[in-house]
Amino acid sequence: MKLKKEIEIVRKNQKWDEIPWRKHYRIIRNLRRRIFKATRRRDIKRVRSLQKLILRSYSNLVISVRKVTQINQGKKTAGIDKHLALNKEERTKLIKYLSKHRNMWKPLPTKRITIPKKNGKERPLGIPTIIDRCLQNVHKNALEPQWEAKFEGSSYGFRPGRSAHDAMSKIFNPIKGERIKKLWIVEGDIKGCFDNIAHEPLLKKIEEYPGKEIVANWLKAGYFLKEVFHKTEKGTPQGGIISPLLANIALDGIEHKLGIKYKCRKDKRGNFWQTSHASIGIYVRYADDLVILTDSEEKAKNVRRRLKKILKSFGLELSEEKTKITHLYEGFDFLGWNFRRYKTSRRKRGEITYIKPSKESIQKFKNNIKEVFKNLKGKCQQRVIEDLNPIMRGWANYHKNVVSQATFNNLDDYIFGKLVRWAKRTHPKKSWKWIKNKYWGNLCPGRNDKWVFGYTSQNDKVRYLEKLAWTKIERHTLVKYKHSPDDPDLKEYWENRNKQNEERRLAQKLTKGKNKIAISTNYKCRLCGQELSSEGLNNLHKHHIVPRRLGGRDEYKNLIYLHAECHRQVTLKGELNPDILLKLGVKALYDKRKDRWIVHKTIK
Ligand SMILES: [Zn+2]
Repeated sequence: MKLKKEIEIVRKNQKWDEIPWRKHYRIIRNLRRRIFKATRRRDIKRVRSLQKLILRSYSNLVISVRKVTQINQGKKTAGIDKHLALNKEERTKLIKYLSKHRNMWKPLPTKRITIPKKNGKERPLGIPTIIDRCLQNVHKNALEPQWEAKFEGSSYGFRPGRSAHDAMSKIFNPIKGERIKKLWIVEGDIKGCFDNIAHEPLLKKIEEYPGKEIVANWLKAGYFLKEVFHKTEKGTPQGGIISPLLANIALDGIEHKLGIKYKCRKDKRGNFWQTSHASIGIYVRYADDLVILTDSEEKAKNVRRRLKKILKSFGLELSEEKTKITHLYEGFDFLGWNFRRYKTSRRKRGEITYIKPSKESIQKFKNNIKEVFKNLKGKCQQRVIEDLNPIMRGWANYHKNVVSQATFNNLDDYIFGKLVRWAKRTHPKKSWKWIKNKYWGNLCPGRNDKWVFGYTSQNDKVRYLEKLAWTKIERHTLVKYKHSPDDPDLKEYWENRNKQNEERRLAQKLTKGKNKIAISTNYKCRLCGQELSSEGLNNLHKHHIVPRRLGGRDEYKNLIYLHAECHRQVTLKGELNPDILLKLGVKALYDKRKDRWIVHKTIK
């Protein structure tokens, strides 16, 4: 009852700039948690009524509109509704329209475009209309928590709070030790997975879901390719917000059908212990990529046979030539890494398992760098640094949990070579000594490295290109068992874990100094309470608590990160508006005697 009242209160606020985001997000978070709990209790009636509630919820609608119109900003192609980005008046209109008509909406076909791939082939991409995207997000919030409570713990792709790195750790644990058994690997490659998933078994799985008609309509909506309509008899809608979730639902249950079982216990301290009946093997899936680790070649072949059968029941086919059975001595690639057992003198048994960046991943990175340098011809040094740093940081961060030092060194050399060519081309008449002194120096504080590419700007700030080799190699902690952020009993667990996840996601964007600002608010936006990365890296703004025009300084204490959307709301109301300061959880006092502002970020 209390909740319904709350929904009524926020409904009155309808101007886009006055929407109380924090409240809406809280309402949806709580509803998701309740759906999760009811599912774990197997109270299907309750799950259904909560799902109906969240589907009707005004909060769900506004945050979905925000998410879709926000993410959409960078997109260059519109759906068949021809809408690209929406301004705030249009967003308000959209919310009004949808709060009246969302139940009557008939999904429209997507617009399909093809994107050329590097290997000459083409990849199809579908773009649903804005209304379809909003409603897909609404339904995702209703369907996801239910399935989060049921999904197999071995699925890591496109799920809240989980990443490729968790999949990597899950594989590594049973093969890292001295005495290991799981030496034979089945590398599953599903032929065009998302395009081929059969509709009927998928719809049967969501039979109980109150919104299943519209989901079915999305699956069957068809698409336009070059103005010609095509039906969709199978597959999940390309490019739809709800598609990865639907694919995960469709592919859920493989582990169970293979006969792999786990026992899960909770000890007195509330820690989870998982023991596996791993006689058959260990199974790890990331979206449509999967591997199974087994003891013998015999078992591996057996597992592959059964996997084929199981997938057939989903309408899917294993690619015959790509689904290999490999021994760990040969090594295998998964999600950009190579897992392999090496000979060594450092261990008693003379063997050790390493994960390294895969050859393919290194080649992709090199191609990327090559492409960037092509566009840097005739550009200034500042551009070179600005363009390269985010790419390098991103790549280093993806690989910082594996054995990457040697690869990092090699790639630094590769980039150095490119930089020398760029510099020589920019100054064809100068000597190497002149060039070297102009562009390289001992510029990174705290490091004794005179080969740092950079410069000191007019206001005495040092700008330089970071090196991959500077990345600290760290271990990644595997997400436990079936843990999901929708589980209300695990608030603390996720609170800690999110910091780790956010740091990685934002690493591409933030230097160390900027990272410090982000840490000070626990990687959250203080206005809406959501994670900083939740709206994409380009929608992040640095906010001066006391604005510079009033004498606020460009220093750590005076800065926080906000989402672009939230930042707009803050500046619109006035930065020093007491209401805003309260919302942001900061204090700003003007010290008359010293003639300056004193700023405090309070703990929130
Ligand atoms: Zn925000």
